[in-house]
Amino acid sequence: MKYQDLLKAADKFGTPCYVYDASKIKKQYDRLINSFKTVKNLKINYAVKALSNLSILKYINYLGAGIDTVSIQEVLLGIKAGFSPEKIIYTPNGVSIKEIIKVSKMGVNINIDNLNMLEQFGSTHSKIPVCIRINPHVMAGGNNKISVGHIDSKFGISIHQIPLLLRIVKNTNINVNGIHMHTGSDILDIEVFIHAAEILFETASKFENLEFIDFGSGFKVPYSPGDNETNIEELGSKLSKRFNEFCYDYGKELTLTFEPGKFLVSEAGNFLCSVNSIKQTTSTVFAQIDSGFNHFVRPMMYGSNHYIENISNPDDSERFYSIVGYICETDTFATNRRISMISEGDILCFKNAGAYCFSMASNYNSRYKPSEILFYNNEFTEIRKRESFEDLIKNQIEINF
Ligand SMILES: *Cc1c(COP(=O)(O)O)cnc(C)c1O
Repeated sequence: MKYQDLLKAADKFGTPCYVYDASKIKKQYDRLINSFKTVKNLKINYAVKALSNLSILKYINYLGAGIDTVSIQEVLLGIKAGFSPEKIIYTPNGVSIKEIIKVSKMGVNINIDNLNMLEQFGSTHSKIPVCIRINPHVMAGGNNKISVGHIDSKFGISIHQIPLLLRIVKNTNINVNGIHMHTGSDILDIEVFIHAAEILFETASKFENLEFIDFGSGFKVPYSPGDNETNIEELGSKLSKRFNEFCYDYGKELTLTFEPGKFLVSEAGNFLCSVNSIKQTTSTVFAQIDSGFNHFVRPMMYGSNHYIENISNPDDSERFYSIVGYICETDTFATNRRISMISEGDILCFKNAGAYCFSMASNYNSRYKPSEILFYNNEFTEIRKRESFEDLIKNQIEINF
């Protein structure tokens, strides 16, 4: 998408809005598939929580992927978008046994990450196959909020508990059809990933009826020109080789599964805002936009650095700005950033706004959630309307005093 296209979208649909480029999602999907082309059975399950708009899910379905879900509501969204239950895996953490049972009865693959839940589920539903989420205790990922594989993480069943896991499987006679790990986001070191994979292979060899091994996700994508990223092609060639060797030893062609969220949709997303005002203080020039952490919380929550372009005036001389929002609380998107000269009314574009952006939006300060637009086959289509006052009040019940 070019500046002109994005400006047209801002003009047509108003700001703030999210604009997603379908061709970028496809490009990433194809890249992943090609990196693992020597693996006979490969399955990509898109992690719905990254971006859960129904039209995006339908597009992902059209590409041929399945989905990874973390709540029964995501499962329902997936089914509404046309995924058959067999193409859905459910990987919850900390949900009730009731929800797990309910989802399993919908025909969705269950991934269990807790021995207590496994025992409860196995004692009552031993005929339904389950996948087991292992925690290999490999510290991967960018920071503590997004790294979920370390020793004190609440995710997965510790590799140190394998003996108890095996005992529960034997006692309940439950059928384990998959082994899974997901160690966190922003993996850069391929060797660390392979090390975790070795632990997974070792665990997998203890189960006889496996159909798949799920390596989760956590691929890092570039956030600005020249930023580093997971080398998917290198990971693909190394892991494929090891996977094929493992299958040979295991005596069965298993399916290699991934469940990327960020990798597929992050770079496809652009967040467009208008500049409400320029405000100078003693030390700083602020550009204040018509949004805040109600719409886009990643910079504040994870300290993520989203690249920002002034698409109304892209080639002027650069100045230093702090980009802030309109929320009555500190909501800094970027500090002391060099950006082509900004004036009131300009449209700023935040890159990498596809993953964990709209899906984390709220109504804080009683603002409406923004609209979402899909750019597909050279056309912009609104895939979610901007909210209205009715949306803000629709579930509220008024008491008269
Ligand atoms: C969030 C999540 C993913 C996706 O992670 P990304 O870093 O967005 O690729 C995959 N698997 C599970 C179980 C998750 O919770």
